[in-house]
Amino acid sequence: MSDTIFGKIIRREIPADIVYEDDRALAFKDINPQAPTHILVIPKKNITNLDAATPEDLDLLGHLLLTVKKVAGQAGLSNGYRVVINNGADAGQTVYHMHFHILGDRPLKWPPG
Ligand code: 5GP
Repeated sequence: MSDTIFGKIIRREIPADIVYEDDRALAFKDINPQAPTHILVIPKKNITNLDAATPEDLDLLGHLLLTVKKVAGQAGLSNGYRVVINNGADAGQTVYHMHFHILGDRPLKWPPG
């Protein structure tokens, strides 16, 4: 698995506005926010995308989803929020290190574009 910009953020080689960290997960503000609150939750393990996850990652995936909930709570998104994983080219994935987008603090349309 090749390194990405998110690997550099994990290793503090480039700056990011980090809002949460534990032994397996990191959360930081998106550099190009698509909503007033736009946070990315990533595993410290370099998993390319959801397609690359394996049964070995079962516990980690659960941990990441609970981290999403925790980070959304910390951000005060009590009126709701959207969680997005862009998986692959057709979904518009641009950084090939799996991440959950948390989008909130504005009404979000459905279906997405
Ligand atoms: P994707 O399109 O792969 O689902 O999402 C990648 C996200 O990473 C985009 O929303 C983009 O704005 C964000 N991003 C890309 N490079 C950086 C960076 O260097 N720092 C931060 N904080 N976010 C980034």
